[in-house]
Amino acid sequence: MRLDILLARAASRLVDAGSPSARLDAEVLLCHVLGVDRTWLYTWGDREPGIVEQARFEALVAARAAGQPVAYLTGEREFWGLPLFTGPSTLIPRPDTETLVTTALARMSARRGRVLDLGTGTGAVALALASERPDWHAVGIDLNPEAVTLAMRNAERLGIVNVGFLVGDWFAAIDETGFDMIVANPPYLADDDPHLALGDVRFEPRGALVAGDRGLADLYHLVDASRNRLVPDGWLLLEHGADQGAAMREALRAKGYRDVISERDLAGHERVSLGRWTGGRR
Ligand code: GLN
Repeated sequence: MRLDILLARAASRLVDAGSPSARLDAEVLLCHVLGVDRTWLYTWGDREPGIVEQARFEALVAARAAGQPVAYLTGEREFWGLPLFTGPSTLIPRPDTETLVTTALARMSARRGRVLDLGTGTGAVALALASERPDWHAVGIDLNPEAVTLAMRNAERLGIVNVGFLVGDWFAAIDETGFDMIVANPPYLADDDPHLALGDVRFEPRGALVAGDRGLADLYHLVDASRNRLVPDGWLLLEHGADQGAAMREALRAKGYRDVISERDLAGHERVSLGRWTGGRR
């Protein structure tokens, strides 16, 4: 069967299955199987794939129709322009999280420094910061060893050398203090968030999504615990849910951070709150 017809059929099957991005999903899956880019597909739509390729594609389309995230089927997702390996052990990097990167970059001083990314997952945030600021060193930590393996493979594939990854429960794996900046995209959904029953989120690790105290438990812990690890005037930046900005600003101020503000994501939601550790008595 011609590629353009195969693609049209797959897209219509994914529309029927309720995919919000059916045509794109079909194209990305076909590119993955054929090892080509989308421009190639548009140019060579009249070609026919091999039997094995067609069967592999159809299996992927069936898995997608059953709800599996495209990023897990291809094992890849782009973040901050970096192609990243992804897998079911990590959250799929999201465009929302680019707000965390932009906000962090704006506060990384011109001189060299050290940044810690807690709950790094695929390494997305640590790798984005390290790639933009080769003079800084980034450390990414994740509780899940599979995530850390993935993050290390991402660093290696991208040739980013000013980054290291460790397995650990937040700060438990390191003695180090004196970070110039700490960033995190921790779990922040409440356990009854209806969003958990929809789309790709259903297949992502719950431990990366859900936290106690209506989603605030890990965020609060990080506000508290980061104080021991930051240099005076060092920044803490936390991604959070759209309705958690006020709680985060209050928590940061109450724990002695100053210059506290929240930044909005592309959809206009408060997404990242930050403050500067004063270095005073705790
Ligand atoms: N923003 C994500 C979502 O809405 C949640 C990510 C997280 O908990 N860190 O699916």
